Amino acid sequence: MPHRQGIAPDLEPLGSLERTHYCGEIRERHIGAEATLMGWVHRKRDLGGLLFLHLRDRTGVSQIVFNVETQPMAHAKAETLRNEYVIAVRGRIVHRSEDTYNPNLATGKVELVAEDVRVLNVALTPPFQLDEEDSASVGEDTRLKYRYLDLRRPQMQRNVQLRHAITAAVRTSLSDQGFLEIETPFMTRSTPEGARDFLVPSRIQPGTMYALPQSPQIFKQLLMVAGYDRYFQVVRCFRDEDLRADRQPEFTQIDLEMSFAREDSVLEVVERLIHGVCQAAGVSPPSLPLRRMSYGKALQRYGSDKPDLRLPPMAVVTDLIAPGDLPLGGPLVAIRIPRVGHLTRREREQFRAPAAELGLRIFDDFRGLSRKLPQEMAAVRERLGAEDGDFIVLVTGLAVPSGPRPDQTVLESAGTINRRIAHGFADRHGLLDDNDLRFLWVTDFPMFEWDSDQASWSPAHHPFTSPHADDVGKLETDPGACRSKAYDLVLNGVELGSGSIRIHRQDIQSRVFEAIGFTPEEARHRFGFFLEALQYGTPPHGGIALGLDRLIMLLAGETTIRDVIPFPKTARGTDLMCQAPNTVPARNLTELGIALRVSPRPSKA
Ligand code: ASP
Repeated sequence: MPHRQGIAPDLEPLGSLERTHYCGEIRERHIGAEATLMGWVHRKRDLGGLLFLHLRDRTGVSQIVFNVETQPMAHAKAETLRNEYVIAVRGRIVHRSEDTYNPNLATGKVELVAEDVRVLNVALTPPFQLDEEDSASVGEDTRLKYRYLDLRRPQMQRNVQLRHAITAAVRTSLSDQGFLEIETPFMTRSTPEGARDFLVPSRIQPGTMYALPQSPQIFKQLLMVAGYDRYFQVVRCFRDEDLRADRQPEFTQIDLEMSFAREDSVLEVVERLIHGVCQAAGVSPPSLPLRRMSYGKALQRYGSDKPDLRLPPMAVVTDLIAPGDLPLGGPLVAIRIPRVGHLTRREREQFRAPAAELGLRIFDDFRGLSRKLPQEMAAVRERLGAEDGDFIVLVTGLAVPSGPRPDQTVLESAGTINRRIAHGFADRHGLLDDNDLRFLWVTDFPMFEWDSDQASWSPAHHPFTSPHADDVGKLETDPGACRSKAYDLVLNGVELGSGSIRIHRQDIQSRVFEAIGFTPEEARHRFGFFLEALQYGTPPHGGIALGLDRLIMLLAGETTIRDVIPFPKTARGTDLMCQAPNTVPARNLTELGIALRVSPRPSKA
């Protein structure tokens, strides 16, 4: 029997014993009641004649008292208990004397005087402390290896229960709004969302593979063709991406689609959903309607399609200086970091190298610039709405940019450096408060992005997104100028989800495939069944998918999605607890008709 040291207690059966209350539930109104609690020994304090024990279950902790005078048998058994043993304890709920109230426990005014205790199971000593609020002291690899223990910690208990509350609120809100939850297959064909597919070889049809869905995109659109009108699913999606911070190869989306919908209709459904979710999470809901900003404005003001509205916008100020005043490479962008005061030369040097890496020339001596160009810099200050104590920096490209959207690169780099500086001095300006939730819709995205590797246009969203009604004519002639009916929901600089009004006409879908370089044969080969379906009476439709893990992370105030996913993988895609991915016996490969050309490497975190 696994037991650390000392006398192993005799294990007892649960028998007919029934739990009457959860540990975190007992309050003053229960005083005098008989109660049977069950759970894990959280902590033990042995004062000789009196032994105090904290008993824990998913609802919280209760104090149990064992008195050697009145219940010597129970007391003797309690002495053998160690942390994480599983016990059932029966007794009477009493009031604590006021001087022993525990303000840190919701149950802190009462305790259970034990009359009987049963030891249901013993436990090894856990490899880390389970009662610590903060996980910082425990290495994440250890937490992931012993995830079933990590999940007992208060932080994870809270996050997993919040996850349930949010998911339940999603289902309630969408059901109330007339959506049907409908499942779509996991073993299917490739669905393009810009990542690689995870493939599942078929044994029965050797040489062929299913793909795990990157999203249920095609199926949800087919459900619209089939007349289901409003669909949703809380659904796992799978994307095989290169290492990227805080991504998981499998993650959960709140996926929805609706027929006869305009952009506004989808946005309103989601706003009601967000409202319900915030309420369920105990966070004050944003006022509706949420703010909207076009992609073009977001790029100009924040150098990003995911603006963090807690920060002030940047300003393009090229027009405020005369040619030759400053060496320019594309637009001149002014950045303002409020309230940080004057930065020392050393502090300013911290972001010179990153700026150069981003292809930017940076003018960080605003005082010097103001001496040289007083009127111009006064105009810059005014355009930025700058106040005393703000730090202002100007940036432009190192060289005049080229390519189909030349300003974009400079603006995006300016946005990156803006965020770097803002995050670097966050404690001085105090703007990046996690509790300040700024939701934003970004709309009017371009239809295509230039892929310089492939020297071709690729869909900015996915190839099923509808072009803007006014831009359909530009699909062939000027794809770069074509806007789409796509929208993103952003929260504090994090993309929560993307969606769009879809193409519901087969002819336009075929033209978009062509614009992204598919020959008609390729389009038929990959999406023939879908192109065919579009011809059988497809209603106008649109939808969105929101990242459930990120939403929960932000509402929980966490900084990584791993802390809100019960069993996550590391950044390298490893499940450290069950050691997946793993090699498989040769006979399994043979059955699948697979021969390996690489020898498997041992999995590392
Ligand atoms: N399928 C898209 C995605 O996963 C979302 C959508 O367009 O509804 O990003």
